[in-house]
Amino acid sequence: GTGPGPDEADWAAAVAAVRDLPADAQVQLICHVNPDGDALGSMLGFGLGLRQLGVRQLRATFPGPPEVPEPFRALPGLDLLVAEQDAYPAPDLVVCFDAASESRLGGLVDRLATAGTALVLDHHASNTMFGGINLVDPRAAATSVVAEELLARLGVRLDAGIAEGLYVALTTDTGSFRFEATTPAVHELAARLLATGIRPGDISRRVFDTRPFGAVRLFGEVMCRARLEPAAAGGNGLVWTYATLDDLARHDQRPYVLEALIDSVRCTAEADVSCVVKQVRPDEWAVSMRSKGAVDVSRVAVALGGGGHKFAAGFTGRGSADDVVASIRAELDKALIGA
Ligand code: 5GP
Ligand code: MN
Ligand code: MN
Repeated sequence: GTGPGPDEADWAAAVAAVRDLPADAQVQLICHVNPDGDALGSMLGFGLGLRQLGVRQLRATFPGPPEVPEPFRALPGLDLLVAEQDAYPAPDLVVCFDAASESRLGGLVDRLATAGTALVLDHHASNTMFGGINLVDPRAAATSVVAEELLARLGVRLDAGIAEGLYVALTTDTGSFRFEATTPAVHELAARLLATGIRPGDISRRVFDTRPFGAVRLFGEVMCRARLEPAAAGGNGLVWTYATLDDLARHDQRPYVLEALIDSVRCTAEADVSCVVKQVRPDEWAVSMRSKGAVDVSRVAVALGGGGHKFAAGFTGRGSADDVVASIRAELDKALIGA
């Protein structure tokens, strides 16, 4: 459930874990698989903050192939990134960003067990508190909100490099300040970040509004095959579509271009729940779900082996795209809010 967030003892422990590091300490930053703007932006922004504090042996790693999605290839701090096999094997400190559970860490999960201290920064209500120290605030709009507070408590001065990562994270998870989590405090944080001189227009164009022509055409094709099921979820509509590996190949596109697809599909007025089913192997699909408020899609995702937030969640599905959507349909009524 939605916990109260970190208490003063948690903050104090986290500050001490960083401040009391020996000068030659190895610090390993990690984040969830298929990293999004919050995972990468929080991790690299925080990493640049640690560098300002004088941490020298500092590496950042995400699980899986080390390809950074194009929208994030201009993020400051990319030089901190190393491939999975080059992550410190037994770091003094591991800091984990935006992951609700160890299952989101792929092959990096053993770094938590071998680390002197494991510090978890996150904002998922479903977080399993798998760190030695857990700074998990379900009310935070993004993991970067937690990261910025810890940096402030450590006495780090925001600079443009740190701010850009944290800003990318904040805009990613608030849908550019459109979602309900956009509180006055979110705008106050955005103001502090912008005051460093970062350029919101350039950043947003790069991160949200740029894709190859092949991806524009791919989106067109995938949008055209969307299905609307008006009677799903207690009378509330379900809209869904799918994209195959063959679609990607025909348009010569990388899988990460499909991350933005859900934002077009979820516009459908007649549907409360939207869903994009993305083939990652012949028999395996990465599923993105969104809700406008009638359904807690994190309940659907958890029931099907995944997780997420109330109104944005996902899981890995098996079988055909139709099988995957059938499994979602079967969970929708159970996930109706207030029913
Ligand atoms: P997206 O649809 O943008 O990929 O993911 C939305 C949210 O759902 C993410 O913030 C993440 O918390 C969660 N999520 C997506 N895919 C998975 C998954 O395979 N497993 C789990 N546990 N959570 C996921
Ligand atoms: Mn994320
Ligand atoms: Mn997040």
